[in-house]
Amino acid sequence: MPIYKAPLREYRFLLNELLDFSQYASLPGFADAPADLVDAILEEASKLAEEVLLPLNQIGDREGCKLENGVVTTPKGFKEAYQLLVDGGWPALVADTAYGGQGLPNALGVIFNEMVSSANMAFGMYPGLSHGAYSALSQHGTREQQEKYLPKLVTGEWTGTMNLTEPHCGTDLGLLRSKAVPVGDGSWKISGQKIFISAGEHDLADNILHLVLARIEGGPEGVKGISLFLVPKFLVNDDGSLGNRNGVSCGSLEEKMGIHGNATCVLNYDEAIGWLVGEEHKGLRAMFTMMNEARLGVGLQGLSQSEAAYQNAVAYAVERIQGRSLTGPKEEGKPADPLIVHPDIRRMLLDIKSFNEGARALLVWTALHGDLSHRSDDDKTREFGDDMMALLTPVLKGYFTDRGFMNAVDAQQVYGGHGYIEENGLSQFVRDARIAMIYEGANGVQALDLVGRKLAQNGGRAVFAFFKAIDDFAAENGGNEKLKPFVEPLLRARKDLEAATLWFMENALQNPDHAGAGSTPYMHLFGVTGIAFMWAKMAKVAHDKLAAAKDGDRAYYETKIKTGRYYMEHVVPETATHLVRIRHGADPMMALAANEF
Ligand SMILES: Cc1cc2nc3c(=O)[nH]c(=O)nc-3n(C[C@H](O)[C@H](O)[C@H](O)COP(=O)(O)OP(=O)(O)OC[C@H]3O[C@@H](n4cnc5c(N)ncnc54)[C@H](O)[C@@H]3O)c2cc1C
Repeated sequence: MPIYKAPLREYRFLLNELLDFSQYASLPGFADAPADLVDAILEEASKLAEEVLLPLNQIGDREGCKLENGVVTTPKGFKEAYQLLVDGGWPALVADTAYGGQGLPNALGVIFNEMVSSANMAFGMYPGLSHGAYSALSQHGTREQQEKYLPKLVTGEWTGTMNLTEPHCGTDLGLLRSKAVPVGDGSWKISGQKIFISAGEHDLADNILHLVLARIEGGPEGVKGISLFLVPKFLVNDDGSLGNRNGVSCGSLEEKMGIHGNATCVLNYDEAIGWLVGEEHKGLRAMFTMMNEARLGVGLQGLSQSEAAYQNAVAYAVERIQGRSLTGPKEEGKPADPLIVHPDIRRMLLDIKSFNEGARALLVWTALHGDLSHRSDDDKTREFGDDMMALLTPVLKGYFTDRGFMNAVDAQQVYGGHGYIEENGLSQFVRDARIAMIYEGANGVQALDLVGRKLAQNGGRAVFAFFKAIDDFAAENGGNEKLKPFVEPLLRARKDLEAATLWFMENALQNPDHAGAGSTPYMHLFGVTGIAFMWAKMAKVAHDKLAAAKDGDRAYYETKIKTGRYYMEHVVPETATHLVRIRHGADPMMALAANEF
């Protein structure tokens, strides 16, 4: 069975040393999360991930979900594991105290989710989607809806889904056909077919709250006529008890490449009773709350598969003996040296390790700024938090999942043929990681969101705030000899990113295809620069702590610095290539007529 150990030392480094959580102790939620409590939470979460969810990962992959007589059963052990999750109060971790949540910062929530997803990505999607539904309802629902539905989502007794996709309507939601007709008593009848709905039907919870995009009959065409509805699987009586089964049913389950433990459903709505969430025709705005949250959650899935695959690849590389080191035998007593002596094996492992640690820092840093955007009492801090969340969401979704998949493939490569067969579990990481590049807005669309929307918002305020954060760090630390190997490459990456940003500003308006052509390289350029920024910050902390550190800590900081050096020297140079590609623009891409492909 594949291994997974939650990287607790990494989390402690991020929370206590890099981000210094204690400085926010006066803010709501943070006040309830002193270091010792956070530590206890991390320990307990790691046990759930390692002892309960990990052993179910391969079972879920092999068994998959089953549909019989309209009832979906999840793989063996999922129901019991879900109950343990509920009993442990985990779905309530970051939910509002007003609805029974613990109100802790979302930065802790993403750490918990990473552990769950590394151990068992398919399982993690059930509570993950519920939390998205919770957020949409808590921001856009009526008081009555919130009081009726949120407490059960918070305990995890009920789960949630998001229903956008239809057979003819994926990225382009303007094509959506599901319709809503008013009943006259404040409720609506929803009809239509949704496909690919994750966690759409299952046996884990008593009720499922579907958040469904539909067009009000007679409403405007295109995205301007889309509304959001809440459609429970079982109608809920005024006293909170469950009533009749609603007119929504699972028509079939998709056979798919990975995440077999998660039910991907065709859902048929046949005059199902629903309630409007938010305003008529403004459904996309409400759904975006859910989608933005889900996008961070999907970015995290990329990291989670990269981490799980990496841990296994390292264990294999130190055990498997094959060939001799180029510089002479390293283990004379053995017929060959372990794989870990070979530079090319190290290249793959270090590409993954340096990504994982830097990406995790960027994820938690972004989530922390998301927390500050609504918990801080300082206007500037709130604005910066909002800007970073908006700007970095497509980067984290798109870049982390592109890399997450590539890293799972590299980890598989470390195993040679033993990674391709199913027995060792590497194939599952590759198959599971693949979907994260596609759903929640395919990565090409994330890149367009970044270049087409996020750069221009508020006159470019967010991207310039990001540059300034880097500049402030460089101004403060550029004179420190020990940090030069970090600050100099960071500034080169930042220069490439700025040049690419300005190139879009100068060229994309007159020819929007230039934006489309360069958007994926730009998203990757942004991802590398963001991670380089985190590595520079982490190197500073590690150097500062090194002098007084003892034994284990000393080794930890030294490894951190060495890993960061690798990232700066072997990964950051990519930014120059991305810039060249962006500057070549759309012409070479658009030169072929459709029949020349
Ligand atoms: C396992 C699984 C689970 C899913 N879970 C859910 C769920 O829970 N809820 C839900 O609503 N949906 C879900 N989906 C659907 C998923 O979000 C869509 O598949 C995805 O949004 C892409 O839509 P599409 O498949 O129709 O592809 P299309 O929209 O046809 O896109 C095909 C390709 O074209 C690109 N493309 C499309 N339009 C443009 C454009 N304007 N510019 C540039 N490139 C473009 C895309 O990036 C993509 O690469 C799930 C899908 C799968 C496979």
